[in-house]
Amino acid sequence: MFTRHTIFQNSLMTALLDGIYDGEMTISELLGKGNFGLGTFDGLDGEMIILDGTCYQLRGDGSAQIADLDQRTPYAVATNFVPRITADAPAGLRRDQLSAFIDKLEPSANYMYAVRILGTFKEVTTRTVVKQEKPYPPMSEAVGGDKELHFKDVEGVIGGFRTPVYEKGISVPGCHVHFIDAARTSGGHVLDYVVDKATVELCPASDLELRLPLTQEFSRANLSPEDLDSQLHTTEVKTKGDH
Ligand SMILES: [Zn+2]
Repeated sequence: MFTRHTIFQNSLMTALLDGIYDGEMTISELLGKGNFGLGTFDGLDGEMIILDGTCYQLRGDGSAQIADLDQRTPYAVATNFVPRITADAPAGLRRDQLSAFIDKLEPSANYMYAVRILGTFKEVTTRTVVKQEKPYPPMSEAVGGDKELHFKDVEGVIGGFRTPVYEKGISVPGCHVHFIDAARTSGGHVLDYVVDKATVELCPASDLELRLPLTQEFSRANLSPEDLDSQLHTTEVKTKGDH
């Protein structure tokens, strides 16, 4: 159907949910696995977006900076982005509507896709995790104090991954995307957006390279919580305003 392509992942979403916020993988090692991606940093110190081989750290106040190569990540997903499928995003579509549009671009829902949406947006709503102190709380509690940021008429990139539901527990099922503005000064974990003038690029992937941490914390984590669905909803998709 399409050529083989690998997505690399460091650790598991369930480990992050269980409060495993310190990783063993450096940003330098991660960039060796791909020039595009997302994740978070040790201590849950902000959201990560990797674009064109540069890793950005998006902090709780919405500010962005280039991450140091020796910083570490407890959770990240990366790939060498090849835009094999591209389309103009219809103006005015909100996230759920654009998602349905992107579904139709995919030759099959049974593979993984890296997704990049470049252009201008009428609105982008983001949320960003804030640095946690030990003993680390589970992520459902750690995100309680997050502020939402609202960008208006902004140019930038929304980038991340569309992951089949069968990967629930490994990754974030559905669409997980982060935003950074064109000046690379601000961004976060995307909750919602409205397209103005943008291009959608998809990179289909058939292979998953999973790297599990060899840390004591990871080896002792509870990776099969009974309320996984509700934890994923609280940490990844919940918005304070209801749409
Ligand atoms: Zn995120």
